[in-house]
Parts: sequence; structure tokens; C-alpha cells
Amino acid sequence: MSADARKSPDARQTTSAVIAVGANLGDRQATVLAAVRDIAELDGVQLTATSAFIETAALKLDGIDEAAPAYLNGVVIVRTELSPEALLDRLREIEQRHGRVRTERWGDRTLDLDIVSFGDVQQQTEYLTLPHPRAHEREFVLAPWLEIDPDAAIPGLGPVRQLLEGLRGTE
Ligand code: ATP
Ligand code: CA
Ligand code: CA
Repeated sequence: MSADARKSPDARQTTSAVIAVGANLGDRQATVLAAVRDIAELDGVQLTATSAFIETAALKLDGIDEAAPAYLNGVVIVRTELSPEALLDRLREIEQRHGRVRTERWGDRTLDLDIVSFGDVQQQTEYLTLPHPRAHEREFVLAPWLEIDPDAAIPGLGPVRQLLEGLRGTE
């Protein structure tokens, strides 16, 4: 850490990032609470807001699966001095710590942590797409996000309030 950073940590460059938290196996409530605590304790990350967690039917590749255990979904907002890739690495470590086993895509899992948006970054790489390419079509992401940030917007796509209204209007 530089002498300047030690003297005035608030002066360091930070970016606001939105993280979606989901769990559909095991003690979901305990897992999401522990995951939020783990995020808050990451070096270079300050938790600024946590949404309520909502129950959502599992979404599989071929649609909603009412037979699968339901998800608890919520959103947290952080400020971070990490790069987007470093943040994703830390989130994947937290997933692993909570026993996540990666099997099928969109399969059941103890914990899923996605970066919904990272400042106004728009990028598409093999490792990390920002904003998250499917967040805008997921009510379980947009609704908790709007609750903790009424002015939320997805870079390139517009206000979360409007995106959510659009989704609800087409149900
Ligand atoms: P979805 O992306 O539709 O929510 P998922 O969360 O089930 O599906 P995972 O298996 O958890 O998908 O992740 C697949 C890959 O997505 C990860 O290896 C990661 O590198 C990549 N990825 C790309 N963009 C993001 C992002 N914004 N947040 C999290 N992971 C991302
Ligand atoms: Ca996900
Ligand atoms: Ca994921």
C-alpha cells in the first residue's frame, strides 16, 4: 500500500459494483447470509447495501423447474478498488468455500455469485461479460436491486425501473 493510500484510504479509486447472490441447495438462508458477510470482509471491498432475499422458482435451460428446490435470491451493492476480474476471482473463491460444485449449466447449486454490473464497464470476454448478459431479463435480480437503489440503471440498457416494468408487462 502506498503512503498516500495509508493516509487517506477514502481517496483511492473505487467503483460501485452490483452482485447477485443466489442459493437453492442446503441451508439457503445461512448460506446467503454467510456469503454476504464474506463479500463484506473481502480486502478492497466495502459493502454499501444489501437487499431483502426473495424466493424464486429454479430456472433451468428448458424453463422454470417447479420440481427443483427454489432459490433465495438477492443483490448486494459494493464499492471496490479491485478490477472486475479480481472481484470475480474472489467471488468464485467464496462460492467454492460454500461447497459449490460446478456440474451442469444452470444446475442446482449451494451458492451462485454473479457480477451484474461494474461501474459503467461494458465488456465481453470469455471470463467475464459486463454488464451480466442476462440480468436485464431476470426479475429476481432487478426487483431486489431496485429496492436498494431506486435510480439503478444497467449500462447500455437503461433504468432498472423501466426494464422491470417491461418484464412484468409481458408476463
Ligand atoms: P448465468 O450466467 O446465466 O447466471 P450461471 O451463473 O449458472 O449462469 P456459471 O456456471 O455460474 O453460470 O458461470 C459460468 C461462467 O460465466 C463463469 O465461469 C464466469 O467466468 C462467466 N461469467 C461471465 N460473465 C460473468 C458475470 N458478469 N458474472 C459472473 N460470471 C460471469
Ligand atoms: Ca447466475
Ligand atoms: Ca454464476
